[in-house]
Amino acid sequence: MPELPEVETIVRSLRPHLRGAVIRDVAAPGGRLRHPVDVEALRLACRGQAIAELRRRAKYILVELSSGTVLVLHLGMTGAFRVVPSAAPAATHERVVWILEDGRSWRFMDPRRFGSVQVCTSLGADGLPAALAGLGPEPLEAGFDGEYLYRRTRGRDRPIKNHIMDQAEVVGVGNIYASEALFRAGISPRRRCGTLSRKALDRLADAIREVLTEAIAAGGTTIDDFRDVDGSEGHFTTNLQVYGRQGQDCLRCGRPGGIRRLVQAGRSTYCCPRCQR
Ligand SMILES: [Zn+2]
Repeated sequence: MPELPEVETIVRSLRPHLRGAVIRDVAAPGGRLRHPVDVEALRLACRGQAIAELRRRAKYILVELSSGTVLVLHLGMTGAFRVVPSAAPAATHERVVWILEDGRSWRFMDPRRFGSVQVCTSLGADGLPAALAGLGPEPLEAGFDGEYLYRRTRGRDRPIKNHIMDQAEVVGVGNIYASEALFRAGISPRRRCGTLSRKALDRLADAIREVLTEAIAAGGTTIDDFRDVDGSEGHFTTNLQVYGRQGQDCLRCGRPGGIRRLVQAGRSTYCCPRCQR
């Protein structure tokens, strides 16, 4: 499943291809996604409009049209984009196609249909879709730091890994990056969040930013179906220190077979019990 770095990578690679392009029409050849695709609403919103900007908020892709209307896209588990000449044959699992005035098409493929493409009907005061108002801060922007984590964890009892994966607390820290950041910060994923010191949470905030920044620089992590717009794979897998390494030696303390896998809230967590307290 694409996480924040993958979505950021996709937005950055789509932007030069799409910014300024004018949409002639929209087609939805592929049936329903997570939500039904309202092709009439999409046509009404998109026809004749230029794509003014593409932005990311959490794992949503926001497409701002010249009219001020915003499209809200989500990749779900297996969503991917291509920008190709309109004459190019349809790929399998094409769900939504934006036909551009310049002879190209922007195509959204999604084999498993957990993605979504919607026209935003209501913008909040911040100019973002009102439906995204309950999301926590972006981890790479001002407002997310050790002080913030400290304030939000006082008096709370849940494991720290579950806390940082809660989108209402901070967005975009998915399963892979939560495991990696906790390892780097030397914090056990099972540790009750309210018992962590300010210093430990400073380390954790730094580690989250570090891991995500490195992953974006590497073009995202290749797990399962993630591909960049041009079909190239992300390269962050080589930097994973705990994720998927159960039974292997710990890269920090060197303990043979030191990396353990455990299950929290139904998700696999990887850690070194010796290095993480
Ligand atoms: Zn270790």
